Formats: sequence, structure tokens, C-alpha cells
Amino acid sequence: MSTPQEPGTVAGTVAGTVAILGRPNVGKSTLLNALVGEKLAIVTPKPQTTRNRIVGVWNGPAGQIVFVDTPGVHGSSKALNRFMVQEALGTIESVDAALLVVDAGDRRPGNEERQILRELQAAKCPTVLAVNKVDKVKDKSALLPLLADWEQTAKFAALVPISALKAKNLEPLVRELAKLLPEGPPLYGPEMLTDRTERFLAAELIREQLFLLTRQELPYAVAVDIESWEERAKQDGTNDVVIEATILVERDSQKAIAVGKGGAMIKEVGTKARAGITELLGRPAHLKLQVKVDPEWTTSPAALARLGYRP
Ligand code: GDP
Ligand code: MG
Repeated sequence: MSTPQEPGTVAGTVAGTVAILGRPNVGKSTLLNALVGEKLAIVTPKPQTTRNRIVGVWNGPAGQIVFVDTPGVHGSSKALNRFMVQEALGTIESVDAALLVVDAGDRRPGNEERQILRELQAAKCPTVLAVNKVDKVKDKSALLPLLADWEQTAKFAALVPISALKAKNLEPLVRELAKLLPEGPPLYGPEMLTDRTERFLAAELIREQLFLLTRQELPYAVAVDIESWEERAKQDGTNDVVIEATILVERDSQKAIAVGKGGAMIKEVGTKARAGITELLGRPAHLKLQVKVDPEWTTSPAALARLGYRP
């Protein structure tokens, strides 16, 4: 995939942070990955996949842009959901600019976009609108009235049609964002792509497979806790890593789904997640997964904090 990222170059003049905001499923995490050229944020066809802020660092001729992917903004009162919306909207205070991502299939701003735009306005945060998924729009002439409609709804610094999935039109998007950022030395060293640990990213890759492979309510009832992480130096001078992880669910019935018939589900989750983790780490990973029922994990503040969903 071609991306505007130029690895290892931190030579430009601007340096700043940009929050990627939008309702669930518009392609925020896909965009972060496309910009950075690495899979940092997990992506599934299901809403509310992303639960935490994830930083991805873009380095290029213009300088350095630190993108912050956020959970989708949606209305819901459950403790975990409140945390997710707070993770997203709370980001606004601490960034230099925002990128509001919308779906090219959406004609008008919904309640979520309105709420985000209100918060951005209150914080006087300069905002670029990215109209994503234009690859799905057959008749490209339909994009002009759509962009005109969006232009009416708020004062955007720029409106850019893109396809995060196909990495289309990302250069102009980055250029428009760079205009909004202060000049200064890079915030992260050239080797830093994210603020997240390998442990966090590995847990996310396991959670991604649970989202992709199971149906109904299960994805929203799971959390992944890395119990142990053992780096092993092998005889031939290479390293591998043994990871023990617990998949938490809320009910026995969900445990049955996560384990699957004769353990088939947990096995498939393990095989696929292991492949992703091995690619991420650049060294072989071995996964030991178990499933545990914890009825309180989405509601208990202590459990949420331990899992990294701190209020
Ligand atoms: P998020 O919830 O906003 O982070 O959205 P994701 O990045 O998880 O993407 C949600 C779904 O939209 C996934 O199935 C993606 O593959 C899909 N998607 C994201 N960007 C594009 C795009 O540019 N074009 C198309 N056709 N699909 C996309
Ligand atoms: Mg996401």
C-alpha cells in the first residue's frame, strides 16, 4: 500500500498533534494505519472496535504529525461506553488540530457529528473534514454536492475526499493538516511509531480476532488481559516470545461461544492472532489463551482500570 509516510525522516518544520474523530465505523482506525503505514489500530466491520486512544506518528517532508485515533462517539450510558466517548472527546483539549472523519454515504451530519463539532468549536480547535470511503461512491459527481452540504454545517479549514482503505488522496489531507500545526522540533524520535506497548498491541490483535470471528453480543463483552510475556533467546541466536493471555467475558454463555465447540473457536482465534502478533513483533510469537468469566468487568471501575480502560 502506498502511503505518504517516509520512514526515518524527521526533517520538516511542523510538529503537532491531530485527533482523528468521528462516529463509530467511518474508518478512523483504517486511516491511522494507512497514514502511519503500520497496523497499529485494529479494524473490523463492527462499530465500537476501538476502545482506547492510540497514537500513530507520521514523519514526512512537512515535519511530524502525531495522530491520535479515538473510539467512535456514540450515545450510551454503560461504564465502558462512557469511558470510550470520554477518550474521544477528551482528546480535543490536548491537540493542535482535529480531523473529523465522515462516511461518503452519509448525506447529513448525525447527532454524533453535531456533538463532536460543538466540542471542537468550544475548544476553538481547527478542523479538517475527511469524507472517507469515496471508493464506494460509483458516481463521483455526487461528491461535489455532498462536500457543499458539509461545508454548510461548520467552518472547516479544508474538506478532503479520501479512501483510507485504498490509501487514496492522503497526501492532500496531510498537507492541509500540516498547515494547522505549529512549527517546532519533532515530538517523537524517528523510530517511534506509537505510544502503545507491544503488550497492548498484542492484546488488541487477539481482541480483533474475537470481533471478527464471533457474532452477536460477544465482541462487546470481551476484554483481553495479557498475563505473562516471556522473551526467549533460542540456540540459533534468534528470539521468540511466549504470551499468556486471558479473554474475559461477562457470562457463561459467552464463554461457551468464545471457547467454541471442542475448543474450535479459541483455537482459530489463537492461530490468527498469533500470525498477526508475529508480524507485528517481527519475531515468532506463541500464544496461550484461556477464557474466564468476570460478570463485572464492563461495570467495575477497578476491573476497567486494570484492563487499561481508565476513567
Ligand atoms: P472506525 O470505527 O472509525 O475506526 O472504523 P474502522 O477503521 O474500524 O473501519 C470500519 C469498517 O470500514 C471496516 O470494515 C473497514 O475496512 C471499512 N473501511 C474503512 N475505510 C474504508 C474506505 O476508505 N473504503 C471502504 N470501502 N471501507 C472502509
Ligand atoms: Mg476504530
